[in-house]
Amino acid sequence: MDSRDVPAPHRRKDVAVLVPAAGMGVRLGGGTPKALRELAGEPLLVHACRRLALAPSVAMIVIAAPPDDVDAVRALVPGATVVPGGATRQQSVAAALAVVPESIEVVLVHDAARALTPPELVEAVADAVRAGAAAVVPALPVVDTIKRVDAGEHVLETIDRTPLRVIQTPQGFPRLTLIRAHAEAVGEHTDDAGMVERLGHKVHCVPGSDLALKITRPLDLVIAESLLATHPL
Ligand code: C5P
Repeated sequence: MDSRDVPAPHRRKDVAVLVPAAGMGVRLGGGTPKALRELAGEPLLVHACRRLALAPSVAMIVIAAPPDDVDAVRALVPGATVVPGGATRQQSVAAALAVVPESIEVVLVHDAARALTPPELVEAVADAVRAGAAAVVPALPVVDTIKRVDAGEHVLETIDRTPLRVIQTPQGFPRLTLIRAHAEAVGEHTDDAGMVERLGHKVHCVPGSDLALKITRPLDLVIAESLLATHPL
């Protein structure tokens, strides 16, 4: 079949999403590592991957798991490719990136704790990469007043929040740009777009989503349960 005959949704399956989840600290089943904390009876990682898989562009999901727990994570998310993670988050992302085939044009890096991230946000990030951006991040305006303080908690200044943004995931990149950023990275980074920024590229923002909140504090779980009730899949 001529490639022009391939229906558009299939032609656009050019995205891999990397989910670094190797920093679990404790073995599966003992304790509650972040990615495996449960929301409505299922691990955050499972919620997150279900939504990623529903994005029409996503061809593959690669999870970096603790080396001893690769099989257990594979059983939890059967549709995903699971690789042993590294000693740091950055090494775990690199390990996941290493198994992405050359046919993949766009690579997203996602945080499992943003378990309710809607497929639409995944598509918006992928679209912005396809449109030519070297790095794409979902961003929300800052709603609180921001002040800079000294070591004694005395206010030094009030920051103008107009140009400030809160950054979410998934962050998106052309595959080769992310490979180069990892190859040339100096030191450890917690943010992949920051690595691409260091290469001198512009990082493009797309509107973030309240559903992409990072579920870390007990209050976040309460909010997430409520969001799950109003935004079921
Ligand atoms: O521990 P920290 O909060 O920095 O971890 C951020 C993310 O990176 C978590 O999702 C964690 O699972 C992941 N990570 C990883 N490999 C490591 C350390 C952390 O995939 N060696």
